[in-house]
Amino acid sequence: MRFVIGARTDVGRVREGNEDSYVVQEPLFAVADGMGGHQGGEVASSLALEALLNATDGAALAQAVQDANRAVFERAGRDPALAGMGTTLTAFLADGETLRLAHVGDSRAYLLRDTELQRITTDHTVVEGLVEKGELTPHEASIHPQRSILTRAIGVEGEVLVDQASIQVRPGDRLLLCSDGLTGMVEDEHIHRILQEQQDPQAAADTLVEAANEAGGQDNVTAVVIDVVDQQAAPAETPAAPAPRPTERFAVKGGRRRWPWRVLVWIVAVLVVLGGGLFAAKRLFVDRQWFVGVSEGNVALYRGIPAEPLGFDLTSLVEETQIPADAATQLAEYRDLEEGITAESEEEARSIIAQIQADVDAQQPAGTP
Ligand code: MN
Repeated sequence: MRFVIGARTDVGRVREGNEDSYVVQEPLFAVADGMGGHQGGEVASSLALEALLNATDGAALAQAVQDANRAVFERAGRDPALAGMGTTLTAFLADGETLRLAHVGDSRAYLLRDTELQRITTDHTVVEGLVEKGELTPHEASIHPQRSILTRAIGVEGEVLVDQASIQVRPGDRLLLCSDGLTGMVEDEHIHRILQEQQDPQAAADTLVEAANEAGGQDNVTAVVIDVVDQQAAPAETPAAPAPRPTERFAVKGGRRRWPWRVLVWIVAVLVVLGGGLFAAKRLFVDRQWFVGVSEGNVALYRGIPAEPLGFDLTSLVEETQIPADAATQLAEYRDLEEGITAESEEEARSIIAQIQADVDAQQPAGTP
């Protein structure tokens, strides 16, 4: 048994930022839909998922959700800018042939088995409560203006009630985790059709997100599609299928991103090239420059440029003379000697020094040898 994953999140057509986050890091698959002004929503959803990554086996999932709740709750209490933030959290943890589910809020999990789509979570919203009491039909609830008001969320109180379930999965099953940006815009029948039509899980996730945007994209939208496949499945069965995508992906927005090693290799390569370039530039340009300056109180000959661009010292002392710098700077012509008098060549620099020597000598009171 193994999993092939497709995942996509999108800001939608109306919102300015994306407060949804997801994790696809086997054995953990999760979506979180954050809420709270400014940065709050993004912080809440990514913080919750990071805490959840500590869950390594099915038994630890419930505890990890409580830890995630506490992490968001305590952060919201510490930082006034994040006060009142919270997030939904719907997660699967694979444990052999069992998928453990933990769920809080109005993101959803679905199971497509054979040809049937089954919703396996209950929305923790005010309107869902009214549906259960028979006061609203599911359709009325789906278009109700208050359909997003949650009765439960991660990070709002010190403890949270978590829905838990276990599902025995088998090859051929397809699971969907999604935020309400999908289910609020796209009817279940349409979601069902897309999941059946799009064989590739990434194509399915992409098509679901596009459908939400085409329907108006009123909210951030996230879809994680998980295909359960036989470990021994022969490649010949699906000759046209693209190579399986890596299932280890981590995309918590607003949180710390784990840089794949390939990115690091590129960064190092670019730095090496830039470093080499700077070194070559120094040899081509800087080392051909000359100037006359001051060293240890005496007039001196330097190679390089009399400045420290970006804090780099690009000079090297070639020769220190016996001419006191003070004597030279008393002359108006050499007032700027401390900052360096540039020359085109060593020859020119040496002639400047000779001139300084002559001018300083000429200043000596008459009669000195
Ligand atoms: Mn949402």
